Amino acid sequence: MTVVKNICCIGAGYVGGPTCAVLAYKCPDIKVTIVDLSEARIAAWNSSNLPIYEPGLDEVVFECRGKNLFFSTNVDAAIQEADLIFVSVNTPTKKSGMGAGMAADLAYIESATRRIAEVSTSSKIVVEKSTVPCRTAQSMRTILDANSTSEIHFDILSNPEFLAEGTAIKDLLNPDRVLIGALQTESGIEAQNALVDVYTHWVPKERVITTNLWSSELSKLAANAMLAQRISSINALSAICEATGADVDEVAFACGKDTRLGSKFLKASVGFGGSCFQKDILNLVYLSQQLNLPEVADYWQQVVIMNEYQKKRFVRNIISTLFNTITNKKIAVLGFAFKKDTGDTRESAAITLIKDFMQENARVAIYDPKVEPQQIYMDLSEPGVVDTQKEVEKKVQICQSAYEAADGADAVIIVTEWDEFRDDQLDYSKIYAGMHKPAFLFDGRLLINAQKLRQIGFKVSVIGKNELA
Ligand code: NAD
Repeated sequence: MTVVKNICCIGAGYVGGPTCAVLAYKCPDIKVTIVDLSEARIAAWNSSNLPIYEPGLDEVVFECRGKNLFFSTNVDAAIQEADLIFVSVNTPTKKSGMGAGMAADLAYIESATRRIAEVSTSSKIVVEKSTVPCRTAQSMRTILDANSTSEIHFDILSNPEFLAEGTAIKDLLNPDRVLIGALQTESGIEAQNALVDVYTHWVPKERVITTNLWSSELSKLAANAMLAQRISSINALSAICEATGADVDEVAFACGKDTRLGSKFLKASVGFGGSCFQKDILNLVYLSQQLNLPEVADYWQQVVIMNEYQKKRFVRNIISTLFNTITNKKIAVLGFAFKKDTGDTRESAAITLIKDFMQENARVAIYDPKVEPQQIYMDLSEPGVVDTQKEVEKKVQICQSAYEAADGADAVIIVTEWDEFRDDQLDYSKIYAGMHKPAFLFDGRLLINAQKLRQIGFKVSVIGKNELA
């Protein structure tokens, strides 16, 4: 039976870094090397200022780094040494060419796989950790087979990652489930067992699910599509709540008490963000189209359409409440990350909202406790357009606190649900005192007690709630 002693992870991002750091932490008998092409990213992983923010990540990395956990740009050496290689590279949505805007760009998967094929000098278990379209392992197999010999054999497993940013370390230490898919051949099942052995160092065996390769690949897309679908469902209901006087919190609570539904992921908001939900649904839509299943494609597409609609609806409400114009008005945006407890801004609702505010010639002041100003400028610039970053820097003020952002503002907009924006943590009386009157507050995250803030003097508008109810 194969015993894994040396692991390489290709891709030191939001998934590869935390996942393999926890693996090293829990498996002191396994050497783990995380590699990346980006020298800056690896230098940050080797420094005291890690490249990503996740609660608990520092402790795990600092405990193992230099013992059995290493970060390196020497991709070839790490591949050669390893018995098992996680491929945890980015799989973004294609920006141009056929399938642009929908299909996954698998160029990084292909180049990592080619590298494994070219430099390996012994047999390897190659594990898809990235989220990929169903049957990607088949393409990887073809690339690897072209370089296999009687001495060098490659097995491919699918082991998608279900961590959520913001709770990555908690999720990795105590996962709901670990999914490992393999070809149902003797060698595939032996490889699958070897990876099961790695995870059962700390994950109870009953939580490790083994399936065929294709079920595992599709399950990851399916899980994200269903999570996003729940958000779009409650957001669609939030529009009905605002128009009728039903309260979306009460509706979510009443529905969530049904044990068939459960209460999680029923929080209305300004819309989901993050690098995964939209990308993975579009991936499913594209896959359905390729499989000649247009009705299935349309069904999943609707989840993304609803998400875009929710953001637009929120902006329209802000403009109409502010007397149909926000020209030259100061809008304070609280939060820029796509959710709390992460510095990740990919597909954040804040980006769409702020671009709309800028288009309407508002003055925008932004405060986020974890996102770097440079990231905000980059996200608000139009890719490929010269000098847009300079233009953005002129139009947008990045602040050191919520108080600074709200000073002189006409409206405060809660976009990310950071705990520090709660009404028992932020001094909303102080915020109110500094604002231009009438002072408007729009809660896109159901974070504050509207009644309490109305008593201070704010004109409050909350997603899924009707002030007249
Ligand atoms: P990321 O962009 O943060 O990291 C990917 C890293 O891979 C980058 O640092 C890049 O430089 C590196 N890379 C690309 N090609 C390489 C190569 N050939 N050799 C070495 N390094 C290479 O991406 P991420 O958020 O970590 O996501 C990785 C995958 O995991 C994606 O498929 C994503 O859909 C999936 N996923 C992400 C999350 C999440 O919450 N971010 C959760 C589950 C699954």
